[in-house]
Amino acid sequence: MTTIHNLGFPRIGCRRELKFTLESYWRGESSENELQAVASHLRKQNWQQQSKLNFVPVGDFSLYDQVLDMTAILGHLPARCGDSSEPALTRYFRAARGQAPGDSTSKQNFAGEMTKWFDTNYHYIVPELTADTQFALNPDSLLAQVQEAQAAGYKAKPVLIGPVTYLWLSETKDDSDKLAHLPALLAQYQQLLELLHDAGVSWVQIDEPILVTELEPEWQQALQTAYQTLSKNMPNLLLATYFGSLKDNCDLVAGLPVAGVHIDAINGKQDVLTLAEKLSPEQVLSVGIINGRNIWKTDLNQALAFLKPLHQQLGARLWLAPSCSLLHVPVDLSLETELPDTIKNWLAFAYQKLDELTALAAALEGEAWASKVLAQNALAIASRQQSELVNDPDVAKRTAAISPELYQRKSEFKQRIAIQQAELKLPLFPTTTIGSFPQTPDVRQARRQYKAGELSAAGYQQRMKLEIADCISAQEKLGLDVLVHGEAERNDMVEYFGEQLSGFLFSKFGWVQSYGSRCVKPPIIYGDVSWQGPMTVAWSQYAASLTTKPMKGMLTGPVTILNWSFVRDDQPRSSTCQQIALAVRDEVLALEKAGINIIQIDEAALREGLPLRRSEWQTYLDWAVSSFRLSANGVADRTQIHTHMCYSDFNEILEGIASMDADVITIETSRSDLALLSAFERFSYPNQIGPGVYDIHSPNVPSVKQMVNLLEKASAKLSVEQLWVNPDCGLKTRRWDEVIPALENMVEAANVLRDTY
Ligand code: GLN
Ligand code: ZN
Repeated sequence: MTTIHNLGFPRIGCRRELKFTLESYWRGESSENELQAVASHLRKQNWQQQSKLNFVPVGDFSLYDQVLDMTAILGHLPARCGDSSEPALTRYFRAARGQAPGDSTSKQNFAGEMTKWFDTNYHYIVPELTADTQFALNPDSLLAQVQEAQAAGYKAKPVLIGPVTYLWLSETKDDSDKLAHLPALLAQYQQLLELLHDAGVSWVQIDEPILVTELEPEWQQALQTAYQTLSKNMPNLLLATYFGSLKDNCDLVAGLPVAGVHIDAINGKQDVLTLAEKLSPEQVLSVGIINGRNIWKTDLNQALAFLKPLHQQLGARLWLAPSCSLLHVPVDLSLETELPDTIKNWLAFAYQKLDELTALAAALEGEAWASKVLAQNALAIASRQQSELVNDPDVAKRTAAISPELYQRKSEFKQRIAIQQAELKLPLFPTTTIGSFPQTPDVRQARRQYKAGELSAAGYQQRMKLEIADCISAQEKLGLDVLVHGEAERNDMVEYFGEQLSGFLFSKFGWVQSYGSRCVKPPIIYGDVSWQGPMTVAWSQYAASLTTKPMKGMLTGPVTILNWSFVRDDQPRSSTCQQIALAVRDEVLALEKAGINIIQIDEAALREGLPLRRSEWQTYLDWAVSSFRLSANGVADRTQIHTHMCYSDFNEILEGIASMDADVITIETSRSDLALLSAFERFSYPNQIGPGVYDIHSPNVPSVKQMVNLLEKASAKLSVEQLWVNPDCGLKTRRWDEVIPALENMVEAANVLRDTY
């Protein structure tokens, strides 16, 4: 029988049980015992779901984050989170979120930095190192989980983040050399492996996803050192890589003295074939054949055809698994009772992916029941390929007819800006906001009632109009120069648009963990995307009718809509992005026609779509930037296009950003103390820029002086004619009593600068 296993399972629960328990625990409403009981129940439920596998993963479960768990196991939670006299869970949650239940609010500065886990939307807590970091193994919780699984009758395969990836992900707080910690770290891993062996564990999965990135020689060497050291210990090591292909690292992997290797066969089919040749006759090759990153059914017949020769070649050395941990997909499709049957039949969430895995292994062994499953699967795959729901001939016609002019504004920036300025007559240092204003409990309640059918469409519209009117009068009172309608009617910046475009589908329980207790429910793009009619025009038009100030229309850009959705796997991402771009273009032109002459197209997620390998960045940037241009550039010269990006880390992609050619870009800068602007200066960025002068992530009200200071620094780097004054990002998560004084100060700061220049 072919060995089947899984790299990790979603821990949030099919109804987000972990989220609700955690949040109740954090509020002090449930005890640690209650929290641990739910956690234990979820683990058992997950193993139960995986009971047909030869091994179940253990240690993939986490109360917050698996990287933070590794930090806890290695015993180096930051000292500021408390010492060992305090309960472990208290220190853990301080490291995770700045606060443990019962902590006074004055102590909210413990939280570690959070960043994206490779190219996923999962965020981990960055381990912190200094030259004098000491590790002290803390294996109890992991060992207890191993025992828990074994006691329930499962064969446990603990999952560890590999030492080299762990170092690679960490940050040294004193610029010391990360790799200097390797020997000390390996000593901990050795001890841990021995303990796991003593606990009756035969295989340990050790994740080194950095192997799908371009590695400097010292990191390659570190991997050699690590696995030469660790393979001396007893349990068999299954070295797991995922999220891409090994490419140049293939030889390195083939040379490591581990008992087995897991490869992402979705992205690295060639790696599988290469390693099947190169591995030694004792080594296991685990093939990640089910896509752990999307929600589509696997084409099982195609997969079987790929696996058959490998099966012959490798025999029992062939293992099967999903490509990566299933953490990145929703839990259970069967809860989705409202999806159209046809489309539901094309989908697979975590539970269903495990069923696919089981069927594939059975089919390899020639079991009769599997052939029925595969025959059904073939029908589903064919139904999707041929479906009219997927393929819209009008969209195909339109994309085929895209001509180069569609990507171009009519004139160069210099000419455009002169025309825009003559029309808009904005002062120096024009003030604006990024779009959203506080989403009050009242606004959210109205939307809930509307969705539940308790509030009529007309009633909801009326309620939102009142909100917009309040928002406009607040902005007028503040003296802002370019107003927005405030986005009260939007639940989410992608969902709002997806719900009104063709080709999108929304699940009810399709939650995926983003960080800690936070989950997102990405839309599913299943078919060709097209514009069905105006999505934002009525709101913007209504808002514009209430003021004589310029009104900025507000849209989400094609790249962001793409990157925050589950996308089709039957065409390149770039093609889907292009379709979305055309739909956004239609909306841009509809806004322009309705008299809205400033239009912002947010690309909050453009940067995060960058591939893991730098050598692939340019290709991505080329199509991403083209899509943005396609969405924006149909307008007349007098229409001013803004874009917004809420991060400061784009030193290396500035050229791409500049080639988007937005008339104005607003960016996050206040937290990086405007360091980013040096890059814009060096690059002599030609168009206008609004460096965010107010950190909206903090409840603090920035003073006039602070903002004047930032703007003066900006003026020293860029020409004053280039500068706008705005917050870092949208204000939806803030309260009105925070926003008003902060914006008062911001407008005042702009006035101070106008007096100076
Ligand atoms: N216009 C959006 C808002 O203000 C932008 C949000 C974002 O960049 N994440 O909320
Ligand atoms: Zn933002």
